[in-house]
Amino acid sequence: MTQEEYKIYIDDVLRRVESARLRVSDYHIVKIIAISKYSTSAEIEKLYAIGQRAFGENKVQDLKAKANELEELPLEWHFVGNLQKNKINNLLDINPTLFHSLDSIELAYELQKKLKAKEMTLDALMQINSAKEDSKHGFMPEVAVEAYEKIKKECPNINLKGVMSIGAHSQDKNIIKKSFETTFDIYKSLDGASICSMGMSGDFELAIECGSNMIRLGSIMFNK
Ligand SMILES: *Cc1c(COP(=O)(O)O)cnc(C)c1O
Repeated sequence: MTQEEYKIYIDDVLRRVESARLRVSDYHIVKIIAISKYSTSAEIEKLYAIGQRAFGENKVQDLKAKANELEELPLEWHFVGNLQKNKINNLLDINPTLFHSLDSIELAYELQKKLKAKEMTLDALMQINSAKEDSKHGFMPEVAVEAYEKIKKECPNINLKGVMSIGAHSQDKNIIKKSFETTFDIYKSLDGASICSMGMSGDFELAIECGSNMIRLGSIMFNK
């Protein structure tokens, strides 16, 4: 695909995001994070040339490699994957814009310790396992609100900004919708939360209609 063809392709993706957000409200703004985990730095540069600035990865070592390779560009880096405790320092060295996947109290405590030692803070989202799937990380919906308040109180170096969830793994649109609604209900009940990160290439329109204001698009943004 030439750069011109790619731009036309991306315009179509943006139009789909735009129509979905307008179905919610004229005032509902949705931010796109381009998840570059299947893509090279050269492909990120092509998307940057079209105007995309926020990118995300799900492995700390990949985030580090791409952030280094592209350090000349004014990019925002998001981390969306499962964070192992022994990788916390590596992630903090990159100082990401937003950590989407805070998925346990133990991780929050460990993160707090490391942040305090480095005298830094980190913006983060609490990951919710809204469809209660064994294959997914995150807090169960029943305990999420209480855990959110606990982390806010006990981990002053973590700035919790809201929630993140991955839609239910199902072909049934109603089951996926229900998982997004569960996440959005939790988001709405949180004091001061401003980010509801849900929606991927296969389900972003539904996620937006359920209230998402941050979508994480991988394959569709890079035409994979
Ligand atoms: C890979 C990934 C995405 C993007 O997935 P696509 O289906 O390619 O859009 C979004 N969120 C997380 C947490 C991911 O790991």
